[in-house]
Amino acid sequence: MSTTERTYIMIKPDGVQRNLVGKIIARFEERGYKLIALKMTQATPEHLEKHYADLKGKPFFPGLIKYMASGPVVCMVWQGLDAVKTGRVMLGATNPLASPIGSIRGDFCLAVGRNICHGSDSVESAEKEIALWFPDGVVQWTSALEGWVFE
Ligand code: UDP
Ligand code: MG
Repeated sequence: MSTTERTYIMIKPDGVQRNLVGKIIARFEERGYKLIALKMTQATPEHLEKHYADLKGKPFFPGLIKYMASGPVVCMVWQGLDAVKTGRVMLGATNPLASPIGSIRGDFCLAVGRNICHGSDSVESAEKEIALWFPDGVVQWTSALEGWVFE
C-alpha cells in the first residue's frame, strides 16, 4: 500500500445529468486524495468497449455501452493511500441497493444500470484505465497538505 497509489474514477452520464459532479469530487478531495487528472468528454462506443472489455459477452453489455456513450462523462485520476480499494468503498457496491448509506451509490442512486460512477477494481486495471483515458499522462504536483494527510 503506498501513498502514491492511483485509481481511475469516472462520473457516468447520469451522474453528470443529475448535477452530482461537484459532490462526487468533494468526497475524494475531503477524504484526502489528490486529483492528478481531470477531463470531461463524450466517449465513443469503441472507446467504452475497450474500457469495459472484460464484460464483453455479458447480457447487459450492449445497454451498458449505449448508456455510457449517451452523454458526457467526467474522468479523473485520484492518488493517495489505498486509492483503489478505498475508492471502491467510497463508491459502494455495483448494485446501489446493496450500497451502504454514506457511500456515493448508497446516497445518490437506486438502479444497477444507472449507478452514476465508476472506480477501478485493482491496481492493475487502474493503470490500464488511466492509460486508456489519459494517454498524455497525469499532472504531478506537490500538495501543501501532504504532511497533514500522511505521516
Ligand atoms: N452493470 C449492469 N448490470 C449488471 C452488472 C453491471 O448494468 O448486472 C453495469 C453497471 O453500470 C456497472 C457496470 O456495468 O457499474 C460495470 O460492471 P462491474 O461488474 O464492473 O461493476 P462496477 O465495477 O462498476 O461496480
Ligand atoms: Mg468494474
